[in-house]
Amino acid sequence: MSQSVPAHQNFDCQSCGACCAYSADWPRFSLETEEELERIPADYVAADLGGMRCESGRCTALEGKLGRSVACKVYDIRPIVCRTCMPGDDECLMAREQLFGAAC
Ligand code: SF4
Ligand code: SF4
Repeated sequence: MSQSVPAHQNFDCQSCGACCAYSADWPRFSLETEEELERIPADYVAADLGGMRCESGRCTALEGKLGRSVACKVYDIRPIVCRTCMPGDDECLMAREQLFGAAC
């Protein structure tokens, strides 16, 4: 019988999602062009138009269950900060620690 490894014990983004859910201050827009921003559905954009809309720190474009199976509903047009966050980098580790604890 195979056992699934909890997402917080590996760096598989599709079974993690921590960086998309740890702070409303994280998925903010930066150097995107007007055209790029216009492609993101308004429902997922914050009221101040400065970033993705979050609820309790979680980006509303993130679907699925944190730490198990997640997906970005706007993956192809996601903001720059989402593209540049890499598994294992400082931002990633901070998000994972905040959501899953120091043992992740
Ligand atoms: S970059 Fe890190 S925190 Fe973000 S989904 Fe991937 S493993 Fe999780
Ligand atoms: S836009 Fe996608 S990749 Fe960026 S924080 Fe939201 S769910 Fe995560």
